[in-house]
Amino acid sequence: MASIKITDQCTGCKLCLKSCPFGAIVVEDKKARILDTCTLCGACVSSCKFEAIDFTKEESQAADLSAYHGVWVFAEQKDGKVANVAFELLGEGTRLAAKLDTKVSAVLLGEGMESASKELITHGADTVYVVDDPKLRQYNDESYADIFVQVVKAYKPEIILIGATTYGRSLAPRVASVLNTGLTADCTGLEIDTQKRELLQTRPAFGGNLMATIICPNHRPQMASVRPKVMKALEPDETRQGEIIVPDVNIPTDTVTKVLEVVNSLTEKVNLAEADIIVAAGRGIGKPENLRYVEELADVLGAAVGASRAVVDAGWIEYSHQVGQTGKTVGPKIYIACGISGAVQHLAGMSSSDIIIAINKNPDAPIFKLANIGLVGDLVEILPALTKEFKQRIG
Ligand SMILES: Cc1cc2nc3c(=O)[nH]c(=O)nc-3n(C[C@H](O)[C@H](O)[C@H](O)COP(=O)(O)OP(=O)(O)OC[C@H]3O[C@@H](n4cnc5c(N)ncnc54)[C@H](O)[C@@H]3O)c2cc1C
Ligand code: SF4
Ligand code: SF4
Repeated sequence: MASIKITDQCTGCKLCLKSCPFGAIVVEDKKARILDTCTLCGACVSSCKFEAIDFTKEESQAADLSAYHGVWVFAEQKDGKVANVAFELLGEGTRLAAKLDTKVSAVLLGEGMESASKELITHGADTVYVVDDPKLRQYNDESYADIFVQVVKAYKPEIILIGATTYGRSLAPRVASVLNTGLTADCTGLEIDTQKRELLQTRPAFGGNLMATIICPNHRPQMASVRPKVMKALEPDETRQGEIIVPDVNIPTDTVTKVLEVVNSLTEKVNLAEADIIVAAGRGIGKPENLRYVEELADVLGAAVGASRAVVDAGWIEYSHQVGQTGKTVGPKIYIACGISGAVQHLAGMSSSDIIIAINKNPDAPIFKLANIGLVGDLVEILPALTKEFKQRIG
C-alpha cells in the first residue's frame, strides 16, 4: 500500500496544486495538506522542487508467472443462452492459444448449463469449467466474481478474456482487483509477444486519437475485455470434442446484493449488439416524436434501433441504444444511419458494418465518406417512403 505525507521542507509555494488531477492538495498556513480525496496516484511528487512530498509505494510481489497456463474466456450466458461475444472471444482465444502453444477454455456459471457447455466446445473451447447451481440462475456480481476468482486461483490461466457487455464490465474489474492483476478494457486488438508470453492489448486512448498497446508484465492472469462484434467467432464444429471440468467451489449465499427480478428493456425489441440490421437515429430526426419513423422502418426490417449520443443526451431514447465510442460497438450486415453526421466517436462503434446506408439532408455530411449508399434528403420524407416500400415487398 502506498502512503503520502508533506514534510517540513514544504514552503507553501503552491506549485503542486496544479499537478493533482483530483484537487486533493490544499495549501493552508503556508503548508500543503493532502486531503482524503487523494488516490495515491503519485502524480504530484515531481512537481515539488523542494522534495517536500514524501511518497512511498510498496512494490507488490511479482507473481510466479510460470505457474500460469492457458487462455480463458468468460462464457456469459442469459437463461442458458450463451452470448455471441463468448463465441467471438473463443475464436480469438483459439488464435492466441495457438501462438502460446496452450489450450483455450471457457468458464461457464449458471443453472442448467449442459447444452451451453457443449455449444462452447463446438465453438472452440478445449475445456469448459462449469459451475452449475440453482443459486447462479441470475447473474449476480458478487457471487459470480467470487466463484470466478476461486476457479482462477485453482487452475491459474495466463490470459482471461471477458466480453465488454453490461455484465462483463461489472465482473472483470471485480475479478482483476481481487486477483491483484491488470485489466485492459475495450480492447480492439490482441496479440502475443511469444518470447515473453505477454498479451499485447491494444485499445483507443485519448478520445480515440491514438492507439495504446498495454502489457501486464509482472502479474497473472493478464485480463482484457473486448466489446461484442470486435472479434470473429469460429464456424461451429459439431464433431469437436472437449473436456468438461466441474471445479470444487464454495457458492456464496450471503451476498449483499440480491437479484429480485430481471426486467428486459421494453424499448429494445432486437438486441443491438447482435442485430443483423440496425436503423439508427441521429439528431437530424429533429424531435423525439420523429423517432417513430426510425422505429417503423426497423419494425418492417426486423431491425434493432440504434442512436447517436446526441439523441441519447437529449433524452429521446435510452442509453442502451447508443452506438459509438461510449456506447455499443455493432457490426450488422446493414446499418442505416438516419440524420447522423458521422462524428469519429459514432463511427468508432459502427464502421465495421458490412453495408452502411446514410440518410442526411447535408450532401457534405462526413457519414457519406463511409457510406456505401447515400440518400440526400429529409428523413421525414425518406423514411416513411422506405417503410412503405419494404412493407409491400417483404411484409
Ligand atoms: C469522449 C466522447 C465520446 C463520444 N461518444 C459518442 C458515442 O459513443 N456515440 C455517438 O454517437 N457520439 C459520441 N460522441 C459525440 C459525437 O462527437 C457527436 O457529437 C455525435 O455523434 C453527433 O450526433 P449526431 O450525428 O446525431 O448529431 P449531429 O452531429 O448534430 O448531426 C445531425 C445530422 O443530421 C442531419 N440532419 C438534420 N436534419 C435532417 C433531416 N431532416 N433529414 C436528414 N438529415 C438531417 C444534419 O445534416 C447532420 O449531419 C462522443 C463525443 C465525445 C467527446
Ligand atoms: S509540497 Fe512542495 S510544491 Fe507543494 S506547496 Fe509544498 S513546497 Fe510547494
Ligand atoms: S498522490 Fe495523486 S491524488 Fe494524491 S495528492 Fe498527489 S497527485 Fe493528488
